[in-house]
Amino acid sequence: MLDLHLNLTPEKPAPSMFTGPVAPDENVVYDLLVIGAGPAGLNAALYAKRKGRNVAVFGDRVGGQMLNTSMVENYIGTSQNSGYELSQKFGNDIEALGIPILSGYLIDGWQQEEDDVIKLYATNRKQYRGKTVLLATGSTPRKLGIPGEIELADRGVSYCAICDGPLFKQKRLIVAGGGNAAAEAALDLARIGREVTVVQRSEFRADHILMAELEKLDNVTLLTQTQIERINGEEHVENIEVYDKVRGERYVIEADAVFVEIGHDPNLGPFKMDLEVNDNGEIIVDQCNRTNIPGVFAAGDVTETMYKQIVIAAADGAQAALSINNELTTGESRMQTAAHKERNC
Ligand SMILES: Cc1cc2nc3c(=O)[nH]c(=O)nc-3n(C[C@H](O)[C@H](O)[C@H](O)COP(=O)(O)OP(=O)(O)OC[C@H]3O[C@@H](n4cnc5c(N)ncnc54)[C@H](O)[C@@H]3O)c2cc1C
Repeated sequence: MLDLHLNLTPEKPAPSMFTGPVAPDENVVYDLLVIGAGPAGLNAALYAKRKGRNVAVFGDRVGGQMLNTSMVENYIGTSQNSGYELSQKFGNDIEALGIPILSGYLIDGWQQEEDDVIKLYATNRKQYRGKTVLLATGSTPRKLGIPGEIELADRGVSYCAICDGPLFKQKRLIVAGGGNAAAEAALDLARIGREVTVVQRSEFRADHILMAELEKLDNVTLLTQTQIERINGEEHVENIEVYDKVRGERYVIEADAVFVEIGHDPNLGPFKMDLEVNDNGEIIVDQCNRTNIPGVFAAGDVTETMYKQIVIAAADGAQAALSINNELTTGESRMQTAAHKERNC
């Protein structure tokens, strides 16, 4: 019987019971407005507050993607926590510092006002002002959109190979996807699972060096022009049905888990039209977490950070808060744009 500590999906999140300590005040001009209450946003708020900054957090769900995770086993110092428990711990630390949080609503508009003040519009129909803004709005893993995917989501279907791979030692694993994320996941999983089959509906797009490594492995099978049509299982994943587009054949592959590695959609919200992003739609930031918009910073999964993990997002949030504090202290010009890459924090 499989250990089913498996992570949940965006469609099956744990409920967020966090209500927040106090609401942000419409009449205050905050030093920092943080959008997003996941690990990046909450840790940024903590660091900013401890620097004496007046900060408020706006996030529809306190905990972010952690709420989609049944067990977090790789956040050092916390042993095993459910994603819900870790979210509560993060939220409690923010509450203890008296940082205002608006949860249950989205930020759906923004405007640059005079005197370098940025105004945010929230779906509670209120407006909030700040000298700086941190976008910590995370991303949403893309789904295959096939029968069985959602039904077996916490029972063998995973969106995070780094997180869930260790649960499937010596099992038969499927990786869906053909880009670098899929290839890296397959390389990692090949050290854990008994056999790994990478299924790509077209041709592989991963870097040559990654594909060359994969091709060397005896326990890895690479399938191109093959579409996963369905994931089957009673209690947990048992097999997948695929369609070989070249031969025009349908067949079944026995499997214990399916890792969906077809990318993430960054949540850019109302800043979408104004931000400089990379080919994956991730926000481009400099080493101080500045975006191309003066006064607007970004951290965590919404940026082009290489690895999407809680500890990395939290650390990125801390770094952003320290950069913002520095910028507020030195009063350094906010009128820097994409050319800022070379600047020190
Ligand atoms: C199924 C799954 C399991 C995972 N398991 C693990 C694991 O075990 N260990 C690990 O280290 N990592 C895990 N991860 C990855 C980890 O959860 C993320 O890397 C991390 O949460 C990213 O943090 P973040 O703060 O950047 O963004 P998020 O956690 O995505 O938080 C962003 C928040 O901002 C909110 N938001 C977005 N737009 C707006 C808006 N306009 N207004 C207000 N709020 C907004 C979002 O709703 C969200 O709540 C998992 C991810 C998934 C999907």
